[in-house]
Amino acid sequence: MSLLEVRGLRAGYGAADVLHGIDLTVDEGEVAVVLGANGAGKTTTMKALAGMLPRRGEVRLGGAELGTRPDRVVAAGMSLVPQGRGTLATLSVLDNLHVGAATRKDRKGIAEDVERWFDTFPVLRERSGQSAGLLSGGEQQMLAVARALMSRPQLLLCDEPSLGLAPIVVQGLFATLGAINAEQGTALLVVEQNAELALDLAHRVHLLEVGEVAATGTAEDFRRDDAVRRAYLGF
Ligand code: ATP
Repeated sequence: MSLLEVRGLRAGYGAADVLHGIDLTVDEGEVAVVLGANGAGKTTTMKALAGMLPRRGEVRLGGAELGTRPDRVVAAGMSLVPQGRGTLATLSVLDNLHVGAATRKDRKGIAEDVERWFDTFPVLRERSGQSAGLLSGGEQQMLAVARALMSRPQLLLCDEPSLGLAPIVVQGLFATLGAINAEQGTALLVVEQNAELALDLAHRVHLLEVGEVAATGTAEDFRRDDAVRRAYLGF
């Protein structure tokens, strides 16, 4: 059994569906990447999985249907780093982390996790009392990742974490995501435009085309596929 099992996922905005029946799985401890052109439905998929959009179809985590309430999805073990970061600008960095832990009650564990993510992202410790809105784009993305991890997810969804960040910042962020996966066993489902970077991180790749999964394979399969290389890797 896979950690995440998605079958026939349909969702959209209003009357028309944007997702026409997505099937995908993420295994325990796996890094899965979703590639696809602009408008293919990547963000819609992430929102639908996180319970932020009405949807049909099955979404199971560890065998149990996740439902469509965002707080219950988080409590069940899956949290989202939304596109555009979504940190709470007027709250302090520390309060943002506590918001991420809203589904937990173990105060000691929460305090330990705050320290852990401050160790991983030292700039967040330096700025812990500052409003999140004053952080740079890269720092806000680190905060968004740390906040999502505060719920101790089994599966972390990341929607285009590299968007708008300088290449050096992106490399650091991806290295950290890889380390979180390797050291904690947290599974990742990452939507990423930067296909080269994404393939370096991915165990498995799902290619989304107009609301459907058109292909699934290993990073190696995708690098070898001429059409995919031309369309997404530019060489
Ligand atoms: P990108 O890489 O450009 O972010 P994407 O693959 O994430 O693309 P989505 O954002 O999921 O694509 O959008 C899929 C389709 O849904 C597009 O046709 C888009 O115009 C439409 N769409 C997205 N958000 C909304 C919305 N809030 N209301 C109506 N239509 C929307």
